[in-house]
Amino acid sequence: MSSRAEHVKCLVWDLDNTLWRGTLMEDPAVTLFADLVEVVKTLDARGILQSVASRNDADLALRRLEELGVAEYFVLPKVGWGPKSESIRELADELSFAHGAMAFIDDQPQERAEVEYSLPDVRCYPAEQASSLPDLAEFTPRTVTTDSRRRRQMYQAGFHRDAERAAYRGSDQNFLRSLGLVMTIGRATEVELGRVEELTMRTTQMNTTGVYYAEETLRRLIADPAHEVLTVTITDRFGPYGAVGVVVLDRYPDVWHVKLLATSCRVVSLGAGAAILSWLRNEAARSGVHLVADFRPTDRNRVMDVTYRFADFTDDDCSCLAALPAPDDGVNRLHQESVFQELATTMQVHAPDLRPVELTENLTAGR
Ligand SMILES: [Mg+2]
Ligand SMILES: [Zn+2]
Repeated sequence: MSSRAEHVKCLVWDLDNTLWRGTLMEDPAVTLFADLVEVVKTLDARGILQSVASRNDADLALRRLEELGVAEYFVLPKVGWGPKSESIRELADELSFAHGAMAFIDDQPQERAEVEYSLPDVRCYPAEQASSLPDLAEFTPRTVTTDSRRRRQMYQAGFHRDAERAAYRGSDQNFLRSLGLVMTIGRATEVELGRVEELTMRTTQMNTTGVYYAEETLRRLIADPAHEVLTVTITDRFGPYGAVGVVVLDRYPDVWHVKLLATSCRVVSLGAGAAILSWLRNEAARSGVHLVADFRPTDRNRVMDVTYRFADFTDDDCSCLAALPAPDDGVNRLHQESVFQELATTMQVHAPDLRPVELTENLTAGR
């Protein structure tokens, strides 16, 4: 029984007489089918990864892709003499994609038949269909976010980072320092709502409340001056990690209420949650307010609980708690009297000034 994903996440190209006209081993000057460059770029911009499964001399084929100016569009290309189903299986493993999210295009019916037989969930297309792939529903994701547009760079960066991590002989801390991590925290805009919604949905492991925020709710919160909806992205010297976190904050005169903090599990080892909390602590300290965070223990967000404790949040009672509406069932309130502390040295943080307008105006006036 076939179990195909609704959308293709990775398309694997044959080269000879599929991506380019001719057979490389016979004619090293093969040229790309003219309209396919556009197809490759279109799919790439939609966040669909692309790779290669070709029977060829690897050095020769990869060099030709470089010369033709399209090598960068293909992740983990497989060029060799084994069965193509093996290449596709290997790729799916390396990308952690289900076979049902993989697709394959080849001019040879026997190659397609071999893949169809060994990997029945993989969608197979004849080369004649190449220029019309972008019109197919399975190559048309519902939304295209900033992250989908840079998905390939994120994966490439990940491969390079992992390889370097595996070869690194120093401590974890030193490796983190060597990454040159930069966290950017920004106010969410209307355009990003879809991405923020997705983050609150996907980050179950590191979601402090297990609450999912619908796009509609987020739109309302962005419009409300008391609320801050913040998105977090991270990059390092290898490239972007993409959107990795979201914070929903409700501000009262004496206390800021952290209604949600969620980070992607991809960045737990970078200390992303801790970095966000340290920054928030300092913003609160500068504004003379306490911080209260909602936390609903689930069987999956224990790491986040630990992160809060390390950031000096406690269960202690405080008069500031009276300003907040009663918590939902099962929600604990963690509290902190925020005191300024130097930020950690492993991550640079760029973020907006959260101090209330009165405060920043007074400061400017007093200068
Ligand atoms: Mg071929
Ligand atoms: Zn307090």
